[in-house]
Amino acid sequence: MFDQLNARIDDKTDDLVTLTQELIRIPTVNPPGDAYVPCAQYLGNRLKARGFQVDYIRAHDTPGDSDAFPRLNVIARHEGRGPGPVVHFNSHIDVVEAGAGWTVDPFGGEIRDGKIYGRGACDMKGGLAASVIAVEAYIEANPNYHGALEISGTVDEESGGFGGVAHLASKGLFSKPRVDHVIIPEPLNKDRVCLGHRGVWWAEIETHGTQAHGSMPFLGDSAIRHMGSVLQAFEQELYPQLANKRTDMPVVPPGARQSTLNINSIHGGEGEAGTEGKPDDYSGLPSPNVADSCRIILDRRFLIEENIETVKGEVIDILEGLKKDRESFDYAIRDIMEVLPTMTERDAPVVQAVSQGIRTVLGKEPDYVISPGTYDQKHIARIGHLHDCIAYGPGILDLAHMADEFVGIDDMVQSAKVMAHAIHALLHSH
Ligand SMILES: [Zn+2]
Repeated sequence: MFDQLNARIDDKTDDLVTLTQELIRIPTVNPPGDAYVPCAQYLGNRLKARGFQVDYIRAHDTPGDSDAFPRLNVIARHEGRGPGPVVHFNSHIDVVEAGAGWTVDPFGGEIRDGKIYGRGACDMKGGLAASVIAVEAYIEANPNYHGALEISGTVDEESGGFGGVAHLASKGLFSKPRVDHVIIPEPLNKDRVCLGHRGVWWAEIETHGTQAHGSMPFLGDSAIRHMGSVLQAFEQELYPQLANKRTDMPVVPPGARQSTLNINSIHGGEGEAGTEGKPDDYSGLPSPNVADSCRIILDRRFLIEENIETVKGEVIDILEGLKKDRESFDYAIRDIMEVLPTMTERDAPVVQAVSQGIRTVLGKEPDYVISPGTYDQKHIARIGHLHDCIAYGPGILDLAHMADEFVGIDDMVQSAKVMAHAIHALLHSH
């Protein structure tokens, strides 16, 4: 049976390549959320023609949704010949902007040396295409299977997933009894099972000051200098503290096996060209002023061993300390986003099924990894309360969001075989 399934997937290699190329050629760039409708319909039309029940769900009133940029998701379901487990493959259809530095057309789907190039080739249209081929091959090889198979193409993963998986999860589409097992074909490599991700806390800190003429700064109070004292305290106290917090989570790359903090942005004083009150083409000199406000955005990634109250408390302690020690220091802090870490157990059915697929197809033991950043698994765990969920798919994680992103055709074929084996194991596990 597995030989026949593998042969069927090999026979579909051209179809897999064309499908990936055509998905790349639909430029679903987010933000703003371009071309979601044609991409969802392209996927829906293909699966409808193959006997799937196809539903389109627009996430009205979610961030970014408008008539110009509708947040349109597609979910397709194929019913087997009798009741049984439901296996779902979820892929995001959005990609990040192309950016500079490409040597090929980022939306051309060009093939070179056995690789398909384009924005989203690796993250994650290659994985989406591999899962479509795996499911179609499985159904053809096992027309009398019991259970159901689902494929979804969801939006906005790159911007938090609120109009995508979070929206569908809030409608019960990622909960039992509708679905039992979820595989997200993010590019974690064909031989790795990704069990989950670290947590995230984003926050904005603002320091306050008093405006004055820049030639007489002593008449004002610089919010930028106050922010300097915050950054200095982070360097001296917080960063060493974070470096000491190591995790047992198998995060890749290993540099992310500790707590991390990035300062995503800093803004203070007069705006630059293109900001409020300054047209894009403004090229004059700045005017001298003492800044009355300075803001930074924190991006703190935390571990399953930490709790979010402690994570926030470390920062607030530093700010409160400065308030005591530094004359006229005043600040405000605002939460932007928080996501708790998630990690599926290694003995969970979906982990076992994909692991067995990797052993059979690739002849090696799988690696178990944790993603440094979050992906849509968070919504499936927290909103759907479904914990039998992992990420598994072709492509090299480091290439995601880079110029000249690609996915290897052989890798896609092999991971489609692993997915098809996993489908078989999960449908027969109950
Ligand atoms: Zn992705």
